[in-house]
Amino acid sequence: MTIKTYFRALLDIVFPPRCFSCDRDIFTEKKSYICEDCLKNIRYVGENRCLICGYELGPFVSASDGGCTRCRGFKVMFDGTSYAAKFEGVIRELIHRFKYNYVDFLAEPLVEILINHLSACNTQTGLNLNNLKKEVDVVVPVPLFWWRRFKRGFNQSELLAKKISKHLLLPVSTNNLYRIRNTIPQIKLSRTERQQNMRGAFALKRTEEFKKRRVLLIDDVLTTGVTASECARVIKAAGGEKVYVLTIAGAGF
Ligand SMILES: [Zn+2]
Ligand SMILES: [Zn+2]
Repeated sequence: MTIKTYFRALLDIVFPPRCFSCDRDIFTEKKSYICEDCLKNIRYVGENRCLICGYELGPFVSASDGGCTRCRGFKVMFDGTSYAAKFEGVIRELIHRFKYNYVDFLAEPLVEILINHLSACNTQTGLNLNNLKKEVDVVVPVPLFWWRRFKRGFNQSELLAKKISKHLLLPVSTNNLYRIRNTIPQIKLSRTERQQNMRGAFALKRTEEFKKRRVLLIDDVLTTGVTASECARVIKAAGGEKVYVLTIAGAGF
């Protein structure tokens, strides 16, 4: 037993590790942040899903390029979306702790959940692990306004993007796309209000960097797609070829 593992074992006795979702003690040798029961309760999105909004489709429904019945008619600037699970229950709890309780090390298990799910998807269409490796040149996190990043101490999307880029063996760009101004929290806004709120919120420091590049935009949650779409608009205005969006969870638009 090394000194490090000895101290960890000692620490586990004094402060038994708890599940970050249900708060139960975890008695396991494996370094883990989520209990087995909570892991089993994650509602993953099935393989038959809409490429635009990521929402799971019924068994006899297929989405065209223009989206599904939920998102058709919403104009988005990105080319595809994928996420592992619905934004509810265990995943919602974990993302809240990650973001608002500043538990930065939850990036690790969240990315693990996403990558495991992406590698389990075998269809030729959609964004699975294999397609992403082939279809993407650079991974880019959705930026926070500098003041918000300073207050939180980290940008949750950046932590996720760095880990995801390692899994995909792709470079990550964390300082080109940035947020010009602090937008008001979007939770209570309608879709149109969100669009107005986000308009002109992002810019590129080096406009050449994403020219003819295929970008994978990373965020924690995809809700209305307005933020991601605005980022995609800026990237494409600078000559970006494709913009795909990958998040841990999503709610459908
Ligand atoms: Zn649990
Ligand atoms: Zn859709």
